[in-house]
Amino acid sequence: MHSRRRFIQNLSIGLGAMAFSPFSLPASESSGLQTTGKQLRVALMGLGGYANIVARAMKECRLAKLTGIVTGTPSKIPVWKSNYGIPDKNVYNYQTVGEIAGNPDIDLVYITTPNSLHHQHVLQIAATGKHIICEKPLADNAQQAREMIAACKKAGVRFYVGYRLHFEPYTRELIRMRKAGEFGRIMHVNNYMGFRIGDPNQWRLKKSLAGGGAMMDVGVYALNGARYATGEEPVWVTAQETKTDPVKFAEVDETITFQLGFPSGALASCGTTYNFNNYERLYLIGEKGFGELSPAFGYGPIRGRTHLGAMNQPVVTHQTVQMDGLADCILNGTPDPDMTGEEGLKDMIVIDAVYESLRKGGAKILL
Ligand code: NAD
Repeated sequence: MHSRRRFIQNLSIGLGAMAFSPFSLPASESSGLQTTGKQLRVALMGLGGYANIVARAMKECRLAKLTGIVTGTPSKIPVWKSNYGIPDKNVYNYQTVGEIAGNPDIDLVYITTPNSLHHQHVLQIAATGKHIICEKPLADNAQQAREMIAACKKAGVRFYVGYRLHFEPYTRELIRMRKAGEFGRIMHVNNYMGFRIGDPNQWRLKKSLAGGGAMMDVGVYALNGARYATGEEPVWVTAQETKTDPVKFAEVDETITFQLGFPSGALASCGTTYNFNNYERLYLIGEKGFGELSPAFGYGPIRGRTHLGAMNQPVVTHQTVQMDGLADCILNGTPDPDMTGEEGLKDMIVIDAVYESLRKGGAKILL
């Protein structure tokens, strides 16, 4: 089965489960939102698969509302207008998007374009003075990410990366337990995330649009997960790669394993692939116990267990809680989750190191 389709089907299973699960809560109830009547008005830029998922999920938001679109495909405009009630004055293309600066109906632009366009699109939107959420991976490399952060700082706008799991209840509970010391000192983390990619002609397999392969696209989940499982930044990185289909993966990486060493002495052993399924898990081992999320990184439902037994958290639509949660940060000053541009940069630094280790061999020291 095409893996993206499977991802989306899993989402529908998750949504279906929501309707019947005794553990499910409406997004707004699950995140303790302050409602003052204000809403964050959002335009989506790049109306592909993920933008559709975000737009559907936003129908359930209380603090965020879809009010605009940016698209280079005129045929999509009537469908989006009728599905989401978007007026003509809030419809832009990639040439006119600068005019969004003067539009009081839009507070934030959510960039869901292919990875290698994130850098130019963030610079473009920062110049309009609108807040930004940019999808993962934040950029092609750390240098681009630094430039994006600097542009947002200069423009005085908020800048987030779409790490939706930071609002996901199982992930948040695992992080809470780790911070509370319930696992004891973290000794080892074992994370992996991958899937078998379909259409050989898609942009994800073209370096000029994707920046890289599995590592950039989904390896970033295993990496980000290693950082939130330990609460530390790695000081060294090693990586190994295999390519079993050099034709399909001529331009980008197929399967990579990578290891991270942390200042405490904890180790993370991680993997990512574009060439097989059933590869999605976060497992942390501490001196006092363990935590496992499996599945850990897709749209869910996420499941988890620890040394105390099965975890029992609400099942939510990730994109709904993310959009309401970030709106709460912007509108009400709730503290930012680990989804800021700086967090995206920290992952880009490690991804650069993974690729450098593959090119040169040996460990890349990040001290
Ligand atoms: P997609 O191909 O379905 O959509 C990409 C959109 O960008 C399309 O509408 C396309 O028309 C548009 N686009 C604009 N300029 C383009 C150009 N020059 N070339 C090609 N397309 C162009 O891809 P997607 O799956 O929606 O992914 C978009 C972004 O969202 C990626 O950065 C991806 O990593 C991210 N994503 C995140 C999640 C998540 O769970 N956070 C899930 C899926 C995708």
